Amino acid sequence: MLARNLSETLQRLENAASNAGRPVPRLLAVSKTQPAEAVAALAAAGQRAFGENYVQEAASKVRDLVELSLEWHLIGHLQSNKAEAAANLFDWVQTVDRPKLVAALARYRDAQRGPLNVLLQVNIDDEASKHGCRPEQLDALAAAVAAEPRLLLRGLMAIPAPHADLALRRDAFRRMKALYDGLAACYPQVDTLSMGMSDDYPLAVAEGATMVRIGTALFGARKRRESEEPGLGTGDSGQGTGDP
Ligand SMILES: *Cc1c(COP(=O)(O)O)cnc(C)c1O
Repeated sequence: MLARNLSETLQRLENAASNAGRPVPRLLAVSKTQPAEAVAALAAAGQRAFGENYVQEAASKVRDLVELSLEWHLIGHLQSNKAEAAANLFDWVQTVDRPKLVAALARYRDAQRGPLNVLLQVNIDDEASKHGCRPEQLDALAAAVAAEPRLLLRGLMAIPAPHADLALRRDAFRRMKALYDGLAACYPQVDTLSMGMSDDYPLAVAEGATMVRIGTALFGARKRRESEEPGLGTGDSGQGTGDP
């Protein structure tokens, strides 16, 4: 089942990219709430990159699956007091949105390892309930990351508001692409625009996403967890991810 979901999703990604005349984006499999066995099954089908929302939940999966050498991305909000754990657990942190976090991740990233890949999260629809920096704050934040040798600035990430009107979502993806192009013009190592989830990724690909984050379409529907109650703010709660 998982192998088939993966091949169908990869096929849809390819179709969306070729329809738009764009390169095929990378697929990040979002494995929050899924057991390590499900991650292992998808890895056996060829998937290498996985996204998690919670540091503690990710830590146990990374430990269980260490011999698979998977690539782990943090895509949930990161509290500063968890930065030390996150800095060496993950290969990528996609949710950097404030200077304090930049300093903490740089401080704790193990010098024996390569630099931590960083995406700056943008609150593109200016929603009060969401994390992410404002577009006006991007330049200063990018400069802060670029100044840290233990961090590597790779690009931007966004979770647009879940408008039922797809034209509004498309507009948010388009504004993200413009911000991304501006950043890439300043920093040659910037190569990643992470946007698009199960219910809107073809639209994100059409507007220039280079990485899509997909959970439900690969693993099936998630069970709601206590910690996903809106307002607790450690993962994707209140982030408009379309969780039931
Ligand atoms: C849960 C989540 C996803 C995946 O959402 P699906 O709708 O299951 O594809 C993507 N990005 C973030 C930040 C998430 O929290």
